[in-house]
Amino acid sequence: MAGGLLQIDLDALASNWRRLRDAAGVETSAVVKADAYGTGIERAVPALARAGCRTFFVAHLSEAVRVRAVALDATIYVLNGLLPGSCAHYAAHDLRPVLGSHEEIAEWAAFSRAQGHRFPAALHVDTGMNRLGLTVSDGLTLAGRPELKDFEPALLMSHFVSAEEQDNPLNAQQIEAFTAVRNTLPKIPASLANSSGIFLPQKPHFDLARPGYALYGGNPTPDAENPMQAVVGLEGRIVQLRWVEAGETVGYNGRWTAQKKRRVATVSIGYADGYPRSASARGHSGETALAGMAIVAGQACSFAGNVSMDLLAVDVTDVPEARIARGDPVTFIGGALTVDEVGRRAGTIGYEILTSLGSRYHRTYREATV
Ligand SMILES: *Cc1c(COP(=O)(O)O)cnc(C)c1O
Repeated sequence: MAGGLLQIDLDALASNWRRLRDAAGVETSAVVKADAYGTGIERAVPALARAGCRTFFVAHLSEAVRVRAVALDATIYVLNGLLPGSCAHYAAHDLRPVLGSHEEIAEWAAFSRAQGHRFPAALHVDTGMNRLGLTVSDGLTLAGRPELKDFEPALLMSHFVSAEEQDNPLNAQQIEAFTAVRNTLPKIPASLANSSGIFLPQKPHFDLARPGYALYGGNPTPDAENPMQAVVGLEGRIVQLRWVEAGETVGYNGRWTAQKKRRVATVSIGYADGYPRSASARGHSGETALAGMAIVAGQACSFAGNVSMDLLAVDVTDVPEARIARGDPVTFIGGALTVDEVGRRAGTIGYEILTSLGSRYHRTYREATV
């Protein structure tokens, strides 16, 4: 009944987690924020837990509550920090905030004192992102702060700015700054590496790795072959096939013009499904700027015109006429159309493709075999 079919391979997800754990050689968590990068918290988390994952990271308290419901024994951290007045919610669900300022630390310490229990939390030091976390100089004096005795500092963490760029000098600078803070708090387990961080030549694995994107099939080493298995596949279906005469346009605002007679398939997904409108193909048939592609009957075909809300058009002229018909499947993510490639063609990153995957798709899950 749905216009798009989203296939999520939980076996590949579990294999990717094991692969990252083996590459890191230390305890490996899973970052499952944004509904497990679009794949679905309620299915992804149990599959990861069965593979052996014990620690999960989300962005929001609401996501953490969903993880707790399907992972009763897991350790769950909330990356976005402690919003004022939310301590009791953390305690009620046995969740851990990632504390990134003196105000947050003071609030968690006061709550722990009032409850007479040293509740666990992570400490976040900002080594270059300028986003969340204590400054490095505040991090270096953290060990002397009395509040650290009121609660349980269970993890010390920081986050890479550009770990996917292996020769970016910022990587070494961040590792050095983080190591300096870590040396003042040697008893607290430390965590720095995201997906790409795990593959850095400096091996900044510390005590806990924190991959997200690579679990879901994204390439953590964009300059080399992708070591991960694909997790997500997306298909739409051909609603209509038509011939477009030379000089005619396709789609809203007539931004794509057929230079010769072209055959166009109208397919059942659009931007309301989470397929980015920025993948629209503008210009002339055969000479558009970078734009979306689909695979039809084994043949890679360009988009034609603007992506609309519920539909998009694909130029299928190069597919033999008899090989396609109304109702046939069209692949949007799968094979050569990796999430990284789909992101590139839409002028964005694969992360945004995954986390935009829409709620309108019919989802099917392939179970993990181990
Ligand atoms: C999202 C996030 C991660 C995971 O990053 P990936 O690049 O998806 O592996 C790790 N740590 C923090 C703090 C994050 O925000």
